[in-house]
Amino acid sequence: MTRPRPSDDDRPVLVLGPNPTPNGGMHLGHIAGPYLAGDVYARYQRARGRDVIFTTGTADSQTYTLATALRQGIAPEELARTSTELIRDALHAIGISVDGFGPFDDTYRTTVLDFFRTLHAKGTFELRTVKLPYRARTGEFAVEGLIEGDCPVCLSSSRGGLCETCCHPNNYNELLDPHSTISADDPTDGITTKEVKILVLPLENFREQLTAYHEAWMPYWRPHLVQMIREVLARPLPEIPITYPLDWGMRAPFPETPGQVLNAWLELMPAGMFTTSYAAAQLGRRTAPGDLWRVEENRRMVHFLGFDNAFFFCFPHIALVMAHGGQFVLPESIINNEFYELESEKFSTSKGHVVTPEDMLREVPRDALRLYLALTAPEHQRTTFSRAGLEKVAAERLIGPWNRLAGTLAKAVANAGGAPLPISAGGRQRVAAMLGRFDIFLEMPTYNLTRAADTILVHIDRLARRAATLDGSRSLDVGPAEWGDLFLEVKALLAAAAPILIDLAAAARQAGGFDGVLGPTAFDVAEVVPFAPPLLPAEANGGTGGNRTGGR
Ligand SMILES: [Zn+2]
Repeated sequence: MTRPRPSDDDRPVLVLGPNPTPNGGMHLGHIAGPYLAGDVYARYQRARGRDVIFTTGTADSQTYTLATALRQGIAPEELARTSTELIRDALHAIGISVDGFGPFDDTYRTTVLDFFRTLHAKGTFELRTVKLPYRARTGEFAVEGLIEGDCPVCLSSSRGGLCETCCHPNNYNELLDPHSTISADDPTDGITTKEVKILVLPLENFREQLTAYHEAWMPYWRPHLVQMIREVLARPLPEIPITYPLDWGMRAPFPETPGQVLNAWLELMPAGMFTTSYAAAQLGRRTAPGDLWRVEENRRMVHFLGFDNAFFFCFPHIALVMAHGGQFVLPESIINNEFYELESEKFSTSKGHVVTPEDMLREVPRDALRLYLALTAPEHQRTTFSRAGLEKVAAERLIGPWNRLAGTLAKAVANAGGAPLPISAGGRQRVAAMLGRFDIFLEMPTYNLTRAADTILVHIDRLARRAATLDGSRSLDVGPAEWGDLFLEVKALLAAAAPILIDLAAAARQAGGFDGVLGPTAFDVAEVVPFAPPLLPAEANGGTGGNRTGGR
């Protein structure tokens, strides 16, 4: 196992976003978490010239889809279909540059079934008789999203299987005071337990391997995730249900558990193999699912996800891949985020306390929204979206100073007549210093979206002040290198900011003279051709010239 190297690591990169559950659309809280983080990271890797695959796809088998559909009185398949469209639209609107959003199709199903059949044949799973929560009135088992109670570890309100507050699993019938999520207010629909035989993955069998993996990589991960991993490793590792006696989900192909389905959470690793090959095909490379995960591909896997489901991604998912015998790569970076709130209150679809990306993009320009979400991203603790905060940052720190800077440069270009300007040694040093900081914030293991966004604003402010001073004191004839340095620094800032300010970068590319390429020698130049940077629109660009194609 090699340690992450700094920014000279040119191995191909695989970026996985978490699989959204299709039980509704996406709101800004989802975007500000793993999706924007994954997008900016993937865009930065592309700008560094690396082979990048960025992918995700919906988790249709989740009981959360069934539970929401039952509450709404609609067919779960229909809810999954309409939600998938909403999710794709939201990701597209805000410019999340997934290379392929895998569909829940036959190849998906075959990939998942093959993955589990192989492990079943190797004897990885064991049969257990367990007591599961049961709705006596309907004669149905109620697990995962179908049940709610108090978490046995932290006592917060929790669904079955996993607590999204402390991230610890609650297995079988461990949830305290459980009730159905379908009929929460109906006292006649009580939850009892019933014995059933299911297949499980005994995580203890993987303790040594899991400990070695986490000891090697978690020093590079965020503190909350590391705390959870250490807590879990300090206890007996649970047995993870491989099958559940439910009607919703993928039918498990095992003779011991007729009629049962696969635990939907555990589909997500083979789902990732499938969406990777699906995305690679969109990029023109045909492979079988799993091929690009093989160790010999030497691909650096980076996984972005919310803390609330990190247990599955850090333990059972890793164990399932290990159980295949070391033929597949494991994530080197698991980057978690915390909850993002809306005006200091939890996003809640049922209470109507939500804002979708599309809602907000009707009111503010996309780059301003992306920058604000990055600046306030919940990377280490709960943070909040504030409409007033967005207005203030956009007007005073982003659009105002950038447009003053761009205006001054446009005037200088008009005066200069397009002849190249020299760059001083000091100018080159400043560019190297600036790009060095961005590299720290946009590479693993020091990735930090908030610091990257703040660094953009710091340099816009610095360069706008420099431009104002030069404009008042030095004509191009008198101080060509000073102007040359300014143009080069603005060009470098545009390139480093491009993963966040995607429409500005697209406009600069379209205007010519800017390719957005980053790398060790990209700005090691002796002169620069003056250029007029595009302006940032002050109004929402929806439908009126904004680049809604992802700005790639
Ligand atoms: Zn808990």
